[in-house]
Amino acid sequence: TSLRVSVASVCSAIMSDKAKEAELSTKMASLPLGDHSHEPPISKAVGSAEKGDLSTAPSGGTKGRRRNRSRSLSQSSNDSYSTSSYTGSSSDEEEGSPREKEQVTASGFTDFCVKNLRQAEFGRREIDIAEQEMPGIVALRERAGKDLPLKGAKIVGCTHINAQTAVLLETLAALGAHVRWAACNIFSTQNEVAAALAEKGFSVFAWRGETEEDFWWCIDKTVNTENWQPNLILDDGGDATHLMIKKYPAMFKMVKGVCEESVTGVHRLYQLSKAGKLNVPAMNVNDSVTKTMFDNFYACRESIIDSLKRSTDVMFSGKQVLVAGYGEVGKGCCQALKGLGCIVYVTEIDPICALQACMDGVRTVKLGEVIRHVDIVITATGNKNVVTREHMDKMKNGCIVCNMGHSNTEIDVNSLRTPELTWEKVRSQVDHIIWPDGKRIILLAEGRLVNLSLSSVPSINVSITSCTQALALIELFNAPLNRYKSDVYLLPKKMDEYVASLHLPMFDAHLSELSDDQAKYLGLSKAGPFKPNYYRY
Ligand code: NAD
Repeated sequence: TSLRVSVASVCSAIMSDKAKEAELSTKMASLPLGDHSHEPPISKAVGSAEKGDLSTAPSGGTKGRRRNRSRSLSQSSNDSYSTSSYTGSSSDEEEGSPREKEQVTASGFTDFCVKNLRQAEFGRREIDIAEQEMPGIVALRERAGKDLPLKGAKIVGCTHINAQTAVLLETLAALGAHVRWAACNIFSTQNEVAAALAEKGFSVFAWRGETEEDFWWCIDKTVNTENWQPNLILDDGGDATHLMIKKYPAMFKMVKGVCEESVTGVHRLYQLSKAGKLNVPAMNVNDSVTKTMFDNFYACRESIIDSLKRSTDVMFSGKQVLVAGYGEVGKGCCQALKGLGCIVYVTEIDPICALQACMDGVRTVKLGEVIRHVDIVITATGNKNVVTREHMDKMKNGCIVCNMGHSNTEIDVNSLRTPELTWEKVRSQVDHIIWPDGKRIILLAEGRLVNLSLSSVPSINVSITSCTQALALIELFNAPLNRYKSDVYLLPKKMDEYVASLHLPMFDAHLSELSDDQAKYLGLSKAGPFKPNYYRY
C-alpha cells in the first residue's frame, strides 16, 4: 500500500515520470506576486541586514560587542508559526554571554555555542517526549535510514531550536547529512534542547535572548568555518539565505538548493527570483498542502481557544464573537468557537468566502454593524488595519481583541498609543487599554499573533512540517542537474501525499487502494499523485 512506499520509491517515481514531473513541480514563480500580497514588504522582513549591516557583521570574537537586548529586526522570525514553540521551559538564570565561555562536551567536542551545557540531560528528555508525538518524522527516519538519501549533504540550518525541531535535525543526521544549526528567532530557543544537541556532537549556535549581533554571529558560525562548503540551506525566515547571498556569494552559488518554511522567507525568494538574483533552486515548503492544512486550519482551531482561555479565563458559551476573514485560519477559529456555544459573526470581502460562511451557518456582517455588542474580536485576514481606532472606540467595556492573522498589522495598535488612553499590563501578553470614561478593552499580545505568544504548536504539526522539509531537502540534494532551475518550486504533490501517509498510522487509518480498473477509469497511477495541483482540499 502507499503506506509501505519507501522514500526512495517516492523520489524515483517522480524522477522516472518526466511528464508528471513537469506538472508536479509547479513553478510558483510564475504566479503573480499578488497571490502573496498579504505578506509584509521585504524591507521589514530582514531589518538591519537589509540596511547592509551584514558586511560588517562580526565573524567571531567577543570583545567590544553591544550588549543591547533588542530583538532581531528579522520580522520573519516573529511571523513564523509553523515550528515555533514559545513555551520553552529554559531556565535562563545563568548570566553572561555564551560567547564568552569555553564550552566542551564530555567527549571533548567544542564546535558549538549554547547557554548551559549542564541542561543537556533535561533537553534530551524533552526531545524524547517530542518524538512521541512526531510519528511521521520518526517513521521517515526509520524508513530512509538505510538508504542514507542525504549522505554527503552539508546543511546550514536556521530554524527555531526546540525539542520538536531537534527531532528534525537528528533525522537529517540519521539520513546521512552533516548539519550546522542556528536559531531563526532570538527568543524561541529552548536552551536545554540546544545543550542536548551540542552534547550529542551537533554544531549548534543558539540561546534564548540573543542580541541582534549574537543572532547574526550564530548564523555566520553555521556558514563560515574551516573545510565546510554547505550544499543545502534549511531556512525559516530567509536569514541564512540572506546572509549567504550578501556575505558569501561564491559559497551560495555552490549550494544545491534552499528549503524555506516561512511566509516571509518565501516571499523574499520570489522577489529574488523575480530580480534574477536567485542563483539556486528553492523549495517553498510553506505552501505545501499538508503543512498549510495543519498550520492554518487544524492548529488554529485549537490554539485560538487555548490562547483566549490562558490569557483571559473567558467562558465561551453564549459569547458573541466576531472573526474577521473566513479563510483557512478564520474557518478554524469559527468552528472551534461555534463548538463551544459562541454566537459567531464573520466579516469578509470575498463573496465566495462570505457565501461559505453563510452556508456554514455563520452570520456575515460588516464590522460596524456588530462592533458595539460583540464580546471578542479576532482578526484572521492577512490584511492591515482591519480593526481601527474608530472600531475600538465603539467596542463595549471588556471586549477582548486579538489577532490570529498576519504579523502585527491587522489591529491598528499604534492608534491606541495616545495620551488620553491608559495602558495597564495585567498579565504577560495581556493589556487593558482604558478610555477616559473608564471603559477598557483587553488587548492580547499587543496585536501580534496571539497563538504564537500564548499557546504552543502541537508536535504533530511540526512533524508534518519536518517531513515536508526533509523530503524537500532529499529532493533538492538528489535531483539530477537541470531538473530545477534557479527558481522557487512547490514540493511535488506525490511527496506531499507521502507526508500525509506517514502520519496515517498515528490515527490507525487504513487507506483504500485503487483497483487497476478504477485507476484506468480515473487516469491515475495507483501510487499517486491522486489530485492535480489545482485541486483545493
Ligand atoms: P486566507 O487568504 O485563506 O484567508 C484570509 C481571508 O481574509 C480571505 O478570505 C480574505 O478574503 C479575507 N479578508 C482580507 N481582507 C479582509 C478584510 N479587510 N475584511 C474581512 N476579510 C478580509 O488566509 P489564511 O490561510 O486564513 O491566513 C490568514 C492569515 O493568517 C495570514 O496572514 C496567514 O499568514 C496567517 N496565519 C496565521 C497562523 C497562526 O498560527 N496564527 C497560521 C497560519 C496562517
